[in-house]
Amino acid sequence: MKTIGVIGGGQLGLMIAEEAHRLGVRVVALDPAAEAPAFAVCDGRIVAAYDDAAALEELCRQCDAVTYEFENVPGEVLVPLAEKYNIPQGFEPLYDSQDRLREKENARAHGFDTPDYEAVDDEPGLRRAADRIGYPCVLKTRTLGYDGHGQAVLRSEADLEKALPLLAVPCILEAFVDFDYEVSLVMVADGERAVTFPVGRNVHRDGILDLCCVPAEGLAPELERRIRQTGERFMRECGYVGILAVELFVRGDRFFFNEMAPRPHNSGHWTIEGSTTNQFRELVRFLAGMPLEEPRLVAPTVMKNILGRDLEAAQALAAEGHEGVHVHIYGKRASRPLRKMGHVTFVGTDAAAYAARWAGRFEK
Ligand code: AMP
Repeated sequence: MKTIGVIGGGQLGLMIAEEAHRLGVRVVALDPAAEAPAFAVCDGRIVAAYDDAAALEELCRQCDAVTYEFENVPGEVLVPLAEKYNIPQGFEPLYDSQDRLREKENARAHGFDTPDYEAVDDEPGLRRAADRIGYPCVLKTRTLGYDGHGQAVLRSEADLEKALPLLAVPCILEAFVDFDYEVSLVMVADGERAVTFPVGRNVHRDGILDLCCVPAEGLAPELERRIRQTGERFMRECGYVGILAVELFVRGDRFFFNEMAPRPHNSGHWTIEGSTTNQFRELVRFLAGMPLEEPRLVAPTVMKNILGRDLEAAQALAAEGHEGVHVHIYGKRASRPLRKMGHVTFVGTDAAAYAARWAGRFEK
């Protein structure tokens, strides 16, 4: 029986473990929190910091292959381990995604368009870059930003002042893309072939993913085909294997790379029930050396993220039991209004049906 290791024990680790068990694969997770969600279903647990080299080595020793669900694993720790143990995705895609500047340069070098951007380190640099790029634009910290943290939209010169605190660390200034909508693409590649999941259309609220709808309404099949092709080519050219999620802005018949993550992605959770195979299962197959399976959409699907403020509403839906409504609660101890506590997948429901029948159950 194969064992895979996951650095990180959050909801992604939890869902990796659930799918691994369906394939007869054991899972050991490492997380600093003793009550991490994944530990509830893992076969082994290591409670340790992400930079604890000895603990990470112990994880590698116990497993046939190791992956990560946490993006900020330090290279100093991961690179030496990847030389000795089987960490098939390696450090490369993490390295390429840990800095927004490097991430965009890499995307451009390998076939994606990106919003115009410039590295910015101080106030004069910010003024110069904003003059060139124009308003509106978005200032983002180069590292450690997530869910809209560490960024500010500058609508005019008057907004420069309030964005200055971000410049305590190196930043990137991006042109604001007046996009029609956002989509994401999730892919799994094993070095020989890649499988791509149907592209989902994302709706964000408060900088956090709120809904993912598949098929992506408004996305012409030809454009979806180009997005998938560009993604597959990108993975091939970069030499990435394993899982990769790419978030894109769509405007007219063009698409722009925003960011990527070499791990299962929140916008891919709908695949658990809405697709014939899902992002977690294909990642496990890749890690366990099993052949990948091409996913197919089961029916139009909407995924609603459940933050703390909607936890009770999701629990009520679960208790009622509705056909095609799949409630996932991650089992996190502490609920906070904006913390991701679970998600609900509505299979056989498109965006309009979701709005009419289900949206009213959740906070506006
Ligand atoms: P990010 O952390 O880069 O994913 O940004 C969070 C959200 O902010 C995105 O999902 C977009 O909705 C918005 N955003 C980020 N960058 C831009 C941009 N260059 N133009 C327009 N909106 C953006």
